[in-house]
Amino acid sequence: MPKLHPDQVHKFIVQTCEAMGSENTEAMLVADQLVEANLAGHDSHGVGMMPAYVEGVLGGRLQINSHPTVIVDSGPLLTLDGNAGYGQVNGHEAMDLGIERAAQHGVALVGLRNSYHIGRIGHWAEQCAAAGYASLHMVNVIGHPPLVAAYGGAEARFGTNPFCAAVPGRDGRPGFLLDMATSIIAGGKARVAANKGVKVPPDTIIDVNGNLTDDPNAFWYTDPTGERGGALVAFGDHKGSGLAIMCELLSAALLGGETAHPKNARDGRIINSMLSVIIDPGATGDAETFFEEIELFRDFVLDSRLRSDCDEILVPGQPEQIARLDRAEGFEVDPVTIDQLRSSAAKAGMKSGSVDGLLG
Ligand code: NAD
Repeated sequence: MPKLHPDQVHKFIVQTCEAMGSENTEAMLVADQLVEANLAGHDSHGVGMMPAYVEGVLGGRLQINSHPTVIVDSGPLLTLDGNAGYGQVNGHEAMDLGIERAAQHGVALVGLRNSYHIGRIGHWAEQCAAAGYASLHMVNVIGHPPLVAAYGGAEARFGTNPFCAAVPGRDGRPGFLLDMATSIIAGGKARVAANKGVKVPPDTIIDVNGNLTDDPNAFWYTDPTGERGGALVAFGDHKGSGLAIMCELLSAALLGGETAHPKNARDGRIINSMLSVIIDPGATGDAETFFEEIELFRDFVLDSRLRSDCDEILVPGQPEQIARLDRAEGFEVDPVTIDQLRSSAAKAGMKSGSVDGLLG
């Protein structure tokens, strides 16, 4: 499988965005987040998102060179509208504002509604952790037919609604970072599996007949009206399904944003709303005790006998740290994704010579 260096991929994304009219700062933020997602091991939210962004910009659904608008500002409480602009710009600016308010008030509640895809949510928790803050993030996804069935149902009713929480370590990196879709597998992982021609884990997809399967193509099946036939399974039965529903309501309905019911347009947009709580550990208690407790707790969790069917214990955020070490000099991109990147770069107006130079 072709391996690409992160710098090549970064340049490819910057040039594709700029070819469609993005200012350099916007193109850089998009490239930073997508490459970081690949480096963290989440190819579902890496450079493979570019074809969808190109379709979004060329179709007039994703607004370039746009910034969030402030709807509510009462000090520690902010509601922003992302105006369907790049999520990488909206997320970055929303977290910057939230960090500023948490520094003033000890805590900030930041709502960002109506943003184009904000990608890997852990990226936003890492921005908060780098400033020394703990954070929680709840997110919904609309614009496409829903992806995930409620527990007991066979038809998709909401998105993969991620939940993310992180506590900072002393070095400005997250001490723990839980960042997860509320479906057993993220939608993008079914796309990557279908592109690679491999199965997904058993019982993670419901086919059009309501049966559980490991075939990623069963998820992408759409009926002649364009409605999705398959659905993803929420993690943890009724508990994960319930958490996804609360992400939907707290991230979107609470902020005046849209939820996934069909009265809201399904016009191919990938719109996220996100509710973030950003907390200064020095304001809620004693920062030194906080760091000490995190370190002692981490050691206690890791120092355990192994379950008979497992060969290691990891804490949330550790798989991503391991992936970063592994991928620093390059990561594999499957040939189907490479072809999709080439054709989307051409649609964006990039010269084929520069695409060949970057994608090989
Ligand atoms: P995942 O299942 O790979 O990991 C989920 C969490 O579990 C991570 O915090 C990881 O560190 C931890 N983890 C993984 N393996 C572990 C192990 N063996 N032991 C302990 N902890 C472990 O992630 P996912 O659910 O597939 O989500 C992938 C990405 O998709 C996330 O970054 C998420 O933010 C993103 N996402 C974004 C959207 C969107 O609309 N923007 C929607 C859904 C998902």
